[in-house]
Amino acid sequence: MVHADEIAKLCYERFNQLPRRGKPEPGREWTLLAAVVQITRCADSDTVKKEVVSLGTGTKCIGQTAMSPKGEILNDSHAEVIARRGCIRYLIQELNRAVSGGDSSVFCQADQRGKWRLQPGVVFLFFTSHTPCGDAAIIPMIDSLSQPCPPVLSVKSHKENDGRGDLKRGPEEPSEGKHIKLPRLDLEDGGDTKQSLLPNSPKSEDPSQSPSAKTPGPSDSAGRLAPVPDVHRTGAKCVSGGPADPLHPGLGYHSTGVLRVKPGRGEPTRSLSCSDKLARWGVLGFQGALLSHYLQEALYFSTVVVGKCPYSQEVMQRALVTRCSHVWDLPAGFSVCPPELLRSSLEFPFSQAQTELRHQAGQGRISPCGAAISWCNVTERPLDVTANGYKHGVTKKALGTAKARSLLCKLELFHSFLSVVAATDPGALPDSLRRTELKTYWDFKEASRLYQQAWQQLHSQAFPLWPRSDRDLLLFR
Ligand SMILES: [Zn+2]
Repeated sequence: MVHADEIAKLCYERFNQLPRRGKPEPGREWTLLAAVVQITRCADSDTVKKEVVSLGTGTKCIGQTAMSPKGEILNDSHAEVIARRGCIRYLIQELNRAVSGGDSSVFCQADQRGKWRLQPGVVFLFFTSHTPCGDAAIIPMIDSLSQPCPPVLSVKSHKENDGRGDLKRGPEEPSEGKHIKLPRLDLEDGGDTKQSLLPNSPKSEDPSQSPSAKTPGPSDSAGRLAPVPDVHRTGAKCVSGGPADPLHPGLGYHSTGVLRVKPGRGEPTRSLSCSDKLARWGVLGFQGALLSHYLQEALYFSTVVVGKCPYSQEVMQRALVTRCSHVWDLPAGFSVCPPELLRSSLEFPFSQAQTELRHQAGQGRISPCGAAISWCNVTERPLDVTANGYKHGVTKKALGTAKARSLLCKLELFHSFLSVVAATDPGALPDSLRRTELKTYWDFKEASRLYQQAWQQLHSQAFPLWPRSDRDLLLFR
């Protein structure tokens, strides 16, 4: 039905068609790509239309003190979040068409007053070039080594082979430096430390050749060091208030199935990992609180496709699906709607691994690209390139003005939403918007009662440690 490679190809091609602004420098910079693909099955024929409606790149996230009480900055510029916010822009445009009496390829009238639903045959699919950061990235090495991904070399052979000496990092940690501390697996008997394995760097030999790799345990009966199965590490820290990572060698390094904040060096961020956000969208939908006013049913991704990278089906299932699968008692229009999880064999040409392969001497240090690109299928200003949460290349003087704002920031999306409300015939307004005292962004989000009820259920049943948003940062209008 859905071919993962076909989807990946579509998204990479869409990326190739974009202008250069904000793209990584080939061979030196890498980035992550995510996209929302709309699939439309035409009722009267067998044709299926697949088109990218939103695409995002990015690896960064701002620190918490940079957050804006005016809603002017993009807090989270990971590709997945950029792609989802671009999709919201697209949905707002389509909703605007629908409420104005025009033709929308997405929405048609639902039976409740003022409410809309997806056109028959329309589904949305999510693509990400890499396993989402956070829980889904904590992949046992055995799993990922058995997959066709670039081999992870031991420190020794790595140095011998290419002389660069950079340790391969885990599958993510976009902005975390290469100098991550790797705890050594030291021998208890003070034996030959040359045999110590760096837990992040298992030998590149065929894991099937080392049967002991399948069972955890630092030493065999003779006291020799046995290869310890390890996990890909994440720089994403557990949210506060819950258990921390045990940091044991090997598989016990991380806690699994827990909420994490986005990885990054420097000041801590308040944004949760992409694994957590994707899990949340599987229950609340990806449309957010504002659009929920107009929708009879939440919008769910039917499928999540991941590009070629270290990947584990079980871990993806745990991170995106199992953590929320028991949630019940959701209000009308919401349900636990886990996506089908697929993986593609096609790698994003600007992935970290590809960039390392293409890197040439004299090119300078490999680093994540600082810019985030958003493109979405809207008629006005479809492209939005940002850095540090503001428009790319904006001068300091322009900060605080509309010129500096991304079209994906809270304030801009709020204003676009208000233009839909203004375009709606008062008699056709959804009930939840019929109160006149709604003024701020916070007011409009809170008034989305069913969405808030669904969030309360998800929060209490699955994610009690998910930090509540700070009201003071949401009172703009
Ligand atoms: Zn992420």
